[in-house]
Amino acid sequence: MKQASKLIHSCFLRANKPVTSFISTTHLISLYPQQRQKNQQKRSLRVAARPSDLVGETPLLDLTHFLKSHGQSNDSDTTTNCRLYGKMESLGPCSSVKDRLGRSMIDEAERLNQITPGKTTLVEPTSGNTGIALAFLARERGYKCILTMPETMSLERRMMLLAMGCEVVLTPKETAVPGALAKAKEIMEGLGENGFMLQQFENPANAKVHRETTGPEIWKDTDGTIDILISGVGTGGTVTGISQYIKGYPDGDLPPLKPSLYTVAVEPKEQMLLTEAKGGSKQGPQGPHKIQGMGAGLIPSVIDLNLIDEVFPVHSDDAMDTTRDLWMGGIPAGVSSGAIVNAAVQVCRRPENMDKVAVCIIPSFGERYFTHPMFEGIKEEASNLTKQPLPEPYDNTEFGFETARG
Ligand code: PMP
Repeated sequence: MKQASKLIHSCFLRANKPVTSFISTTHLISLYPQQRQKNQQKRSLRVAARPSDLVGETPLLDLTHFLKSHGQSNDSDTTTNCRLYGKMESLGPCSSVKDRLGRSMIDEAERLNQITPGKTTLVEPTSGNTGIALAFLARERGYKCILTMPETMSLERRMMLLAMGCEVVLTPKETAVPGALAKAKEIMEGLGENGFMLQQFENPANAKVHRETTGPEIWKDTDGTIDILISGVGTGGTVTGISQYIKGYPDGDLPPLKPSLYTVAVEPKEQMLLTEAKGGSKQGPQGPHKIQGMGAGLIPSVIDLNLIDEVFPVHSDDAMDTTRDLWMGGIPAGVSSGAIVNAAVQVCRRPENMDKVAVCIIPSFGERYFTHPMFEGIKEEASNLTKQPLPEPYDNTEFGFETARG
């Protein structure tokens, strides 16, 4: 149901955009030739040929009201004219920013003849959205797919992957992501030349897809008015690629569109590796965090730290608070979205940003996080709901059958 409405939604949003991967047909039949001709000019069906054709072209959503209602400390703060827009990556075909990455890495490997449908098995250590993106692309293109992940990863993730025909190999929780990587390498050795690992943390197709799609979309949809970008960092592909497109990328002959773009990278406060890498110091206790998708525990080679003007640490508890605010604002998003919006609100409320335009990334859809600690209370409330008595007298025999009472 959700997918169906998303398809309609995304087709609607794309209605006036030239998206080459959409097939346009004009088949309106009318008895009157003139009317028919008119209709043919006006109407067309827009049908995506493949699931991956639904990747990208995500809309911007105005989140400016969060600047007024969230974390408000005094009246004068509410006078800001800063605009905040969310880039709704949560509306991709498998509901995350990683849909772009999955398609880009597989397109690139196919272009370089590194993989062959029906022959190659894709192997990747991934606990989350990249695995799900690879799973749907593997189905679409005809690859086998094996994903390795620590045993602590949520049941809904395992189910998503199994339901799309992937093999899931769990690794001990004590060894975290490095353990999953070691297992993936062992599987690769067993597969010989039929195995292929996409390596999202190192793959140049990662930043490239954001340089070629996400960046241009944001530039176009803000009419070049974007001043500030706020993005979470997992692999760093999103923040790097978008910044490259706007600030310029000499290696790819991209001239700067706006060198003054202020790029803010968000990381978990409990794991301040980027802050440290940029010369800052860690604050508070460091250790595990609860912002899935961000703070991978390493500085990925995909990220270009020179493009980052500020690293903004957000604690998991604050990320969860803002995620709740997003849900209550009618935006069911993942926990990293909460972290990013939390940072965005604080950056936008600074006096120097009074008249700026800020875009923050909303990386994933919220339903994937029901086993996350932030939903524990809701899960309990939902489980404890009891049925309520109907108004008396109640009789539904007029519908042709009797309902059992009780
Ligand atoms: N949030 C979520 C939910 C993600 O899955 C990811 C990707 N790991 C990110 C944020 C960060 O994106 P990137 O890997 O491009 O830095």
